[in-house]
Amino acid sequence: MDFCYMPAHELHRRLAAREISAEELCRAVLERIETVGGKLGSFITVTGDLALEQARAVDKRIASGEEIPILAGIPVAVKDNMCTEGIRTTCGSRILHNFVPPYSAAVVEKILARGMVMVGKTNLDEFAMGSSNENSGFFPASNPWDVDRVPGGSSGGSAVAVAAGQAVVALGSDTGGSIRQPASLCGVVGMKPTYGAVSRYGLVAYASSLDQIGPISRDVTDCALMLNLIAGHDPRDSTSAPGDRPDYTAFLNREIKGLKVGVPKEYMGDGIDPGVRGVVNEALGVISSLGAEIGEASLPHSKYAIPAYYLIATAEASSNLARYDGVSYGYRAEDPGDVVDMYAKTRSRGFGTEVKRRIMLGTYALSAGYYDAYYLKALKVRTLIKRDFDRAFEKFDVLICPTSPTTAFRKGEKMDDPLQMYLSDITTISVNLAGIPGISVPAGFSGGLPVGMQIMGRPFAEGTVLQVAHAFEKNTGHHKKFPSL
Ligand code: GLN
Repeated sequence: MDFCYMPAHELHRRLAAREISAEELCRAVLERIETVGGKLGSFITVTGDLALEQARAVDKRIASGEEIPILAGIPVAVKDNMCTEGIRTTCGSRILHNFVPPYSAAVVEKILARGMVMVGKTNLDEFAMGSSNENSGFFPASNPWDVDRVPGGSSGGSAVAVAAGQAVVALGSDTGGSIRQPASLCGVVGMKPTYGAVSRYGLVAYASSLDQIGPISRDVTDCALMLNLIAGHDPRDSTSAPGDRPDYTAFLNREIKGLKVGVPKEYMGDGIDPGVRGVVNEALGVISSLGAEIGEASLPHSKYAIPAYYLIATAEASSNLARYDGVSYGYRAEDPGDVVDMYAKTRSRGFGTEVKRRIMLGTYALSAGYYDAYYLKALKVRTLIKRDFDRAFEKFDVLICPTSPTTAFRKGEKMDDPLQMYLSDITTISVNLAGIPGISVPAGFSGGLPVGMQIMGRPFAEGTVLQVAHAFEKNTGHHKKFPSL
């Protein structure tokens, strides 16, 4: 029996029934990291000893007769842009290669308090900027379905870890698609919750008005369980939404009969690979056969989403990344002259090409004389995009489209053409601009590679999104296919 490929809710049953111990499970996962890790590049830091210690602590609780809570003893991987006290947190950047945070992110506190077993920190595009993981400052990650292809990004390492049995669930962050797009390309489930649903305390900031943390998992039930654990108000994050969150698992197993599903026409046409479109159309057929009513929706300002994002996100990044100056954090140039020279050398050597490109773009967009023409204009476009969604949700309960316009592309294919790379997020980015929840679920295969379907909902309607995702999953089974490695 391969425990590495079981979902957390199933493993929980087996842990509680003492069919397997948390330590055995942890060892199995660490062995997968060891045997296929080199080939996949999914982890920057593996915390094996600590994980075994955490697993043994759970076994002790079980042995003492305690009924452990769900997710306790389950191996989890954390994207390396979330702070872990005493454990190196690099953000995939040379500028933070030796940074050891003095505190843990809120989500990390929560997974540890639950008794989850943290097996390591996963690879990402530097500072979460990218769609292929090739922008990692250390080494690229590979797609487990075809190692010559990218896993997507920026949470590529987290998606690979779950897809390849190197963790049962993982945490990612999503600013423009970074949870959903790699989940789609690797054949796993990934959700970006509503802006403000999950605390970002301790998440290294990229673009603060867009960043959100969310789960990557093997199935929709695990996604709901992880969301139950990490969602909630946190006074330490000023953008965290007040109030209680519902029990997301209560939405699973509910019928979707009569639910209104809109398919945005802008996300099914030009630019979407015909193979991907075919899979999503077939999936829509399943959803319709379950009694949902499907209609055409329109998000007319979608074509401006990528340009607006690359002004807003870069503007925020230029400000957020100003703190890496060689004084407070991480790397400092070895041969500094005066202080200005130290800043310049530290930042030009510490940051990679894409990060520098974005800092320059963002600084330009914010500069006097261009602010109104670029940054302010982009904010106005963002409002129009948000209104498109508001209007669509007057008619529809959820919207469905492909998560990514293509399946996993070949390594190197888009590295010389940033614009082509940016287009990878054509259907995910507007979800961040609007602040709404979106999930990617495995919907089938095209040319032997996984295709993800994105389901989007009204703000804080994660429950409805999970309801549709679960109904689809139960009536298909694409999530049960695993890459052979
Ligand atoms: N791929 C997008 C970018 O490069 C989104 C990244 C993200 O969501 N962190 O910015």
